[in-house]
Order: sequence, then C-alpha cells, then structure tokens
Amino acid sequence: MSTLTGPWLEHECRESFWRLVDKAPSDPHFYNGAIGWEWRGLKNKQGYGYFIHPVGGWILGAHRLTYMYEMLEIPDGHDLDHLCRVRDCVSPLHLEPVTHKENLARRDNARSLAQRIRPSKSNSGLRSAFAKRR
Ligand SMILES: [Zn+2]
Repeated sequence: MSTLTGPWLEHECRESFWRLVDKAPSDPHFYNGAIGWEWRGLKNKQGYGYFIHPVGGWILGAHRLTYMYEMLEIPDGHDLDHLCRVRDCVSPLHLEPVTHKENLARRDNARSLAQRIRPSKSNSGLRSAFAKRR
C-alpha cells in the first residue's frame, strides 16, 4: 500500500498543501454529484498537479496527496484514474485506484473516442489518413 510517511504528515506541509486546493471553484465540474476540487499549485506538461514538500523537496502528484490525506491508502502499483477526466482535479471522490495497465487502456479509449468526434489539430498523421481515404 502507498501511504503517507512522516514528512508529508507534518503540519507545515499539510497547511501549505491544502492552501492550494480550491474546494469551491468559480467554474466547477461535478462527478456523481460531488463537486471537483481545483488545484491551484504547480502543474506538469500534461496538466496534472504536483506538490513539492516545503522542507525536503520531494515531489508527489497533488491528486495522490489529497487521496492519501483523505482516504489513506492506494494499493501497490496502482495509479489514480480521474473519473471526471479533469486532469488538475484533486477531489478524492473523482479518483479511483486502477492498475497502471487499466489506466492506460482507459486513457486510450477516451482518446480514440475524442478523436472520432473531433480529430485533434496537432495530430497531422491522423488527418492525412482521413484525407487519403476521401
Ligand atoms: Zn473532478
């Protein structure tokens, strides 16, 4: 199980972390009737939030942190899948632990579905494939 160890449970760390979680965002999204929490801290290139421990400098995903602070543990080798598909959302109620394999499969499904609806502009390979077929 992944659980939080000492340094992450220090008051100072928790304080600065929770200051970056907006539990009542101005432009909210919902999943299963629960409001999404917006991450106001740093985000990586993919749009996922992360947090740097104020003293030790260790880095953890912001959604993993809220999940572990609120729900305590993530099974070994599991990712947290965003059920709401909002990458910077950190509400534990919008997250589900899944194996890495399952997470990738879900991501691919979501992506191919999105492309069928609206081919992305950056994906020129897909567009030329479409063009050739016409
Ligand atoms: Zn959400």
